[in-house]
Amino acid sequence: MGLHQKQPRVRLKPEDYGALRNHVLKRDGWRCQDCGAMKDLQVHHIKSRSQLGGDVAQNLITLCASCHGKRHGR
Ligand SMILES: [Zn+2]
Ligand SMILES: [Zn+2]
Repeated sequence: MGLHQKQPRVRLKPEDYGALRNHVLKRDGWRCQDCGAMKDLQVHHIKSRSQLGGDVAQNLITLCASCHGKRHGR
């Protein structure tokens, strides 16, 4: 923080992000797109925010907690 902040990136307000997240879950049929699980669902950024991936539906995918972890190399 301070005088030399980075350029602000496209980032939704929490309430708008919640709606987008819901949209992605619905689009993906409330299933993990890697294994088909329907519990512990999370929304993953295909392109991370640090790679300039924005909060847009095309950049988001529904994954279960364990597949999500794998995508992050865990
Ligand atoms: Zn999964
Ligand atoms: Zn993720």
